[in-house]
Amino acid sequence: MTHSRSHLIYYNALSRRVAAENDHYRGETPGPNTSRPRHLSPQTMWLVLERDGYRCFCCGESVIGQRYTIWRRNRTRGDSPANLITVLGTPSTGCMERLEGHDPLDEAKGYILKPTHDPERIPALRHGRTPVWLTTDGGYRFE
Ligand SMILES: [Zn+2]
Repeated sequence: MTHSRSHLIYYNALSRRVAAENDHYRGETPGPNTSRPRHLSPQTMWLVLERDGYRCFCCGESVIGQRYTIWRRNRTRGDSPANLITVLGTPSTGCMERLEGHDPLDEAKGYILKPTHDPERIPALRHGRTPVWLTTDGGYRFE
């Protein structure tokens, strides 16, 4: 299965295996060996990780030492930080697995957007609780 655009955009050279069935990349904990992601600029990747405090945006668990993904909320949109969140796991583990299933609940929480939805205008529930508006400069707005 090939997506012209994927929700997932980052992987780490430490995990060289790229999921064959799609365009998804998995990351391990960022570190000195972090590679250049294929689609996402390293600057944006680090911006998103730092904004999210190296925690899963969905559940708040730390991604340090764990596999994680930088997830595109709206897969038809680009790599503005407003469109990107840090998500724990891989397509077969953690929150990432759940997002892959496109649970309506995750849409309600703003983690998965419809193609017409503007990531800047739709809040997402940080750690499942706090609605925040992600900004293009890599910050949060709370209202
Ligand atoms: Zn999570």
